[in-house]
Amino acid sequence: MDFNEFIMTNEKVIRISFFVGTLAIMGLWEIVAPRRALTASKAIRWVNNLGLVFLNSFIVRFLFPAAAIGVASFAAANGWGLLNYYEVPYIVAVVVSVIAMDFIIYLQHVLVHAVPILWRLHRVHHADPDIDVTTGARFHTIEIILSMLIKFATIVVLGPPVVAVIIFEVLLNAMAMFNHSNVGLPKTLDTILRFFIVTPDMHRIHHSVEDDEANSNFGFNISWWDRLFGTYRDQPRGGHKGMTIGIHKFNKPSDVSWIHGMLTLPFKGKISSYAINRRQWGDGDSE
Ligand SMILES: [Zn+2]
Ligand SMILES: [Zn+2]
Repeated sequence: MDFNEFIMTNEKVIRISFFVGTLAIMGLWEIVAPRRALTASKAIRWVNNLGLVFLNSFIVRFLFPAAAIGVASFAAANGWGLLNYYEVPYIVAVVVSVIAMDFIIYLQHVLVHAVPILWRLHRVHHADPDIDVTTGARFHTIEIILSMLIKFATIVVLGPPVVAVIIFEVLLNAMAMFNHSNVGLPKTLDTILRFFIVTPDMHRIHHSVEDDEANSNFGFNISWWDRLFGTYRDQPRGGHKGMTIGIHKFNKPSDVSWIHGMLTLPFKGKISSYAINRRQWGDGDSE
């Protein structure tokens, strides 16, 4: 059995093993050497964050039984998408697909911060008053559905090999859990890894309550996009231990830590002057 066949036939087992494996390793690491003290109970966060993750995977499976793999197989069978149209060596197609899909995820992440109605959905991810391995998979159900649709559209245009889609989804899931973890790598290792991938210290800055810090480090896997597009930030002003995690105005535990609060959070509050709606420069903005 070659590598492709192995991935295709064991796809579900691979997915679950990576999810459970990353959760176990990072979860243990957080207990042994936490980067920051948690502000709320770990039991409540795990039950509610993971509860939302299970609810989402159930709904997604119900809505899109064929999932991204089904769309990729369909595109391949019909010759749809750039990589199915041109004669590209298989391995090149796999690598290009994984990198291209990561770039789309980066753009999608910038988009959900910039467009006010999408920020309402995405703020469920940011409202978490702490970040740990479970935050990496905590997204509002509608944002997950929207992500799926964007992914389907990407696949139809790109025509990635089915295996590339599986590799990307497994990697994204494991990497998101890794870089949301409440852990710290040795400084030198963190610096070296950051030339290629997003580390926990790099992504934590994105969860700051400070708007300018939250509007930086949008990458989930590869760290190049933030560097290339000018959204990279090295360290939080308050330091990793001193910075505040979460979002302004939303800090009631029932809103931000409990599953019913997370599901209704996008529908709360007035249309804010967030990001693109904020059309006037504040004091001190010179660029
Ligand atoms: Zn974000
Ligand atoms: Zn995040």
